[in-house]
Amino acid sequence: MQQDERTADIVVVGGGMVGLSSAIALKDSGLDVVLCDPGEARARTSYGNAGVVSRGSIFPMSSPALWGKLPAYLRNADAGLRLRHLHLLRVMPWAAHFLASARTSAWRRAAAALAPLTDAAYPEHRRLADRAGVPHLLRESGWVKLYRTEEAFAGAALEREILAHHGVPFEIHDGAGIQALEPALIRPFARAMLLPETGAVGDPGGLVEASEKLFAGLGGRILRTTVSRLEPEAEGWRVVHPGGTVRARRVVLATGAAANELSRPLGYRFAFAAERGYHRHYALQPGSPALTRPVYDTGAASILSPMGEGRVRVLSGVEVADRHAEPDYRQIEAAAKEAAGTVRLGQPLDNRPWLGSRPSTPDGLPVIGPAPRHQGLIFAFGHGHIGLSTGPITGRLVADLATGRTPSVPVAPFAPGRLLGWPRP
Ligand SMILES: Cc1cc2nc3c(=O)[nH]c(=O)nc-3n(C[C@H](O)[C@H](O)[C@H](O)COP(=O)(O)OP(=O)(O)OC[C@H]3O[C@@H](n4cnc5c(N)ncnc54)[C@H](O)[C@@H]3O)c2cc1C
Repeated sequence: MQQDERTADIVVVGGGMVGLSSAIALKDSGLDVVLCDPGEARARTSYGNAGVVSRGSIFPMSSPALWGKLPAYLRNADAGLRLRHLHLLRVMPWAAHFLASARTSAWRRAAAALAPLTDAAYPEHRRLADRAGVPHLLRESGWVKLYRTEEAFAGAALEREILAHHGVPFEIHDGAGIQALEPALIRPFARAMLLPETGAVGDPGGLVEASEKLFAGLGGRILRTTVSRLEPEAEGWRVVHPGGTVRARRVVLATGAAANELSRPLGYRFAFAAERGYHRHYALQPGSPALTRPVYDTGAASILSPMGEGRVRVLSGVEVADRHAEPDYRQIEAAAKEAAGTVRLGQPLDNRPWLGSRPSTPDGLPVIGPAPRHQGLIFAFGHGHIGLSTGPITGRLVADLATGRTPSVPVAPFAPGRLLGWPRP
């Protein structure tokens, strides 16, 4: 069979929110761009998330509260985190660094690094949705964190202090205020925090598809393939896939939770893991008021997000497991049970839950920057819980790095080298 041999200025590997946004920003910068992605919509984590684009999403999972929760986490007795213990052994560098990051000082530092990124998240998304011809998919609805008890609310005081420090607005509501805010809620909550500067994407998969069309409309080339390896050459890179190769001076690695698969053969072993998550769609019972914005029930560690046409997407907490492991639906089943006490949940609308992998770094910061030991290779992955939100601004930063412009957001905290060679002596 004849091999497909192409050349380009730059190849972007991975077409989720991060890779697509990078490809579009690189095209905007006047480069000839090839985007490689197999094109399986549901294989992208960018398809199945909660659709929250929030200025306030500046907190890594590895928080100072981790230590108090650790015994429950290790017993799989907390809805927020489920561990496949044997798989945990395979991501020991990630786990060691994750535990080491669970300090107040590290949490504050991470929030400070993420704040400029999430500040840009909504404006960049607005621009993308408008350009892609789907402005209706993004609404600035705000989102709500719900606390079942006063103790739980008091436990989040540090979060509020850090949000205030970074000028992120929020409103606190009591039980009556919560009812007025979201009449669909039937569970009595003690307190709620509304983060008004938040967009909600009503169909993340639809936004990805529209972004792909935008890229193609700009003259970007899409190659439907899974890249097998990246080979450095004297003058750039050879991107090898089962159908042939693409030669380019530069490559962007944006394969989300699969990043280690192409980086390892080049000698980069990142402290990296898959934080898997599930969702399932439900109708609300006839007569129930609609849910008007995403809500996070902190007591169940589960988000309920309206996804258009009366559908509610129920999302699970985190499962630390190998990306390719068989699904274990217990966590999403438990989340759905809790959700049924929170809103008037009707019938499930999907045959079975969706499963995806958050590309997780232990310190909760993405990896955005040039590869330390290779010319012309840019890493853009590891966006964990906020890759939908921060995909478009990451794309802009990737284009800045590729074209030698000063990045519009400081990228030093996202440098790849920090996750290599861990644990350090
Ligand atoms: C349950 C859940 C809820 C979430 N909620 C939110 C939220 O509300 N807000 C938010 O901002 N984020 C949220 N996230 C996180 C967010 O979805 C991810 O951070 C984001 O989608 C990552 O985008 P990505 O482009 O890096 O990866 P992906 O979307 O996974 O895209 C990676 C792409 O690379 C392709 N690929 C992989 N290997 C290769 C290869 N060798 N060759 C070519 N292509 C390859 C894959 O097929 C895929 O298309 C959530 C995640 C989960 C699981």
